[in-house]
Amino acid sequence: MECREKIFNIYRKRGVEVHRLNSHEEIVEKEPFYSKSRIKSAGGFIFPLDSCIDTYDFSCRMHKKGQEMGVRSSVNCEFKNFIFKENSKEIQGVQTTKGIIPCDNIFICASYYSPRILQKLGLRLPIIPLKGYTFTQKKTDAHNCKSCLIDYNCCILMTQRFNTVRWTSQCTDIMGIDYTIPKARLARSKTSHDNLMNNTVELDESSCWTGMRPLSPDDVPILAKVPGFDQVIINTGHGSKGASTFITTSVLASQIFKKDEKDWVLNNNDYDIKRFWLL
Ligand SMILES: Cc1cc2nc3c(=O)[nH]c(=O)nc-3n(C[C@H](O)[C@H](O)[C@H](O)COP(=O)(O)OP(=O)(O)OC[C@H]3O[C@@H](n4cnc5c(N)ncnc54)[C@H](O)[C@@H]3O)c2cc1C
Repeated sequence: MECREKIFNIYRKRGVEVHRLNSHEEIVEKEPFYSKSRIKSAGGFIFPLDSCIDTYDFSCRMHKKGQEMGVRSSVNCEFKNFIFKENSKEIQGVQTTKGIIPCDNIFICASYYSPRILQKLGLRLPIIPLKGYTFTQKKTDAHNCKSCLIDYNCCILMTQRFNTVRWTSQCTDIMGIDYTIPKARLARSKTSHDNLMNNTVELDESSCWTGMRPLSPDDVPILAKVPGFDQVIINTGHGSKGASTFITTSVLASQIFKKDEKDWVLNNNDYDIKRFWLL
């Protein structure tokens, strides 16, 4: 059985609906928007339960909710170093650009910057910055796509929220932490976009932004206590799946904090860092 079908079967067993579309005609039947595409796709797949969130809005709401529940937070504040009890591995606090924050536990979820933080403990965290390119522009009548569909040919994903459309070009680069936007990537994204939209609408190239996904070597998140430092927990590596996995790992992370021995994550943790020999 081909690899993609094996993965889809795992999704289906877990209750995630996924439909394969085996020709361009099947795509157009599900999503008439594709009828204008200049390229006839060999197929694609569709997740009917997929939905879109505005991650900035989501983060602001989470922050507000936390504050209402008594959480104290420092924003625009950068981690600098750990502060240890003298001659011991016990951590008493962290040094930040806004002074020292005393703490009992430390939760590291700094995406592709997490390795730099772990380096301070002499550990090598295998997180690769996987660079992606995205365009956000105003929604028009031409963007009348109903679903979140990934086709095999155009390799550009359109997601909609309120009055905006986001195009994510499926080209990715591994080039360290680098925020430049190469002209070749803009051109490649524009070709994919124009093929799909058949020039009914212009891609707003000035709206392009780039960011790095925190990719683990097997593209599965890392959620674990740091070996040798029981107070430190890592939660990163959500890579290409992003929001699809971060809710689960956050719920599991709370089990680590509660230290309930019956909990799944302490006994059967597929996300453990120990699966990599690099540490
Ligand atoms: C172009 C692109 C498109 C994507 N599209 C999708 C998508 O369509 N769907 C999806 O589900 N996922 C998508 N993702 C992936 C998703 O964005 C990431 O997987 C997700 O943001 C990771 O969340 P996080 O909380 O681990 O990291 P982040 O959201 O990056 O948060 C890490 C935080 O740590 C902070 N930080 C770093 N270093 C320090 C320090 N020294 N001190 C203090 N704070 C620090 C940063 O400022 C940041 O706020 C995309 C990613 C990219 C780059």
